[in-house]
Amino acid sequence: MEVSGGVRSIAVLGSTGSIGVSTLDVIARHPQRFRVFALSCATRWRELLAQCQAFSPEYAVVVDPRAAAQLRAAIAESGLTVEVLDGEQGLVEIATHAAVDTVMAAIVGAAGLMPSIGAARAGKRVLLANKESLVMAGAFFMDAVHAGGAELLPIDSEHNAIFQCLPGGYRSGEREVAVRRLLLTASGGPFRELAPEQLARVTPEQAVKHPNWVMGRKISVDSASMMNKGLELIEACWMFAMPADRIEVVIHPQSVVHSLVEYVDGSVLAQLGNPDMRVPIACGLAWPERIESGAASLDLAGGPALAFEKPDLGRFPCLGLAMHAARVGRSAPVVLNAVNEVVVAAFLERRIGFTRIAELIDRVLQRHIVAEPESLEHVKALDADARVLARELLGVLD
Ligand code: NAD
Ligand code: MG
Repeated sequence: MEVSGGVRSIAVLGSTGSIGVSTLDVIARHPQRFRVFALSCATRWRELLAQCQAFSPEYAVVVDPRAAAQLRAAIAESGLTVEVLDGEQGLVEIATHAAVDTVMAAIVGAAGLMPSIGAARAGKRVLLANKESLVMAGAFFMDAVHAGGAELLPIDSEHNAIFQCLPGGYRSGEREVAVRRLLLTASGGPFRELAPEQLARVTPEQAVKHPNWVMGRKISVDSASMMNKGLELIEACWMFAMPADRIEVVIHPQSVVHSLVEYVDGSVLAQLGNPDMRVPIACGLAWPERIESGAASLDLAGGPALAFEKPDLGRFPCLGLAMHAARVGRSAPVVLNAVNEVVVAAFLERRIGFTRIAELIDRVLQRHIVAEPESLEHVKALDADARVLARELLGVLD
């Protein structure tokens, strides 16, 4: 996609979230390079108003119509000229707008699917943080990227590391890159060393307190259960056209080596840096150029020793479930992702204990008859059915 006048025009989907705020932080450091065209959030319109005041976008989308009306009134009162839209169609409108060349897809969960795919179909540079959309609908997503001529750049730090360690044109079929395997690093989260019998009693507060990263609540719980690494494995399969059995998960508690690529000659390339999401965000925004991100320099000699170990699937059953879903493919990852969203929300609401997360996902997956998703509508129906079943099981537990 042409970038007019050398200034990138950006739509930030999920701008009030952890990735959204970090994205705006990087953008604000380079006002001559980037223009914020549109911002969006689910409900938190006051935060969006403050972002509108700071960045003067053309559009702001609040998914919830009542909150959107409140933002509209506040914008009128403030004298700003920002058009306020609502609903999923508002998100799709900004993600596909002709004046936008770059879309930061940073909505959490399945809610990010339609706008992310819309941006891909419209041929945008898609900065993908919303891994759930690739997990749910990888085949349709990648088709949209190819059909639309989009430029898909990973923002998830591990995938961004792999992207940086691969030569250009790595994508499926474009060229043979002689990769033996991908090594996906994982911190192991806050419960890596907790006695297994204590896991059932951990609180949401403990689960969201990640040792190295500050993130949204859902992905923080996913990191604690290691479902996050499982989702990332599926994400990597699609993004790098790699079978699941050629992706290995390695625990690396310091989160300094963000992932690695092993080539057939035995060379292993890694990308390192402090755990700061502004690094992959700046990489994606400016690629193939490099810009300041605000992240501190890495102090290798002064920092902790770097360690690596194998993941313990007994302690982290969610990782095993996701690995299984990755191998089974078809509708299995859709169900895995949908049930995970429902049960993680229930855990955060203190309705279930932490170890129930894996148990419930396992139960729904056991009952599920695997099918080949035929369309995006079919994916959405599979997602909805899995959520109904998960809520039924939760109701029995209540
Ligand atoms: P977050 O919870 O901090 O923010 C989520 C954003 O999405 C908010 O702006 C919120 O308003 C919006 N949102 C939530 N529900 C929505 C809905 N139904 N419709 C439209 N918008 C909605 O989440 P986050 O930590 O920024 O993560 C965002 C995505 O990036 C997730 O997919 C996550 O897995 C991925 N990611 C995050 C990090 C990180 O460090 N935070 C790292 C890698 C990948
Ligand atoms: Mg990650």
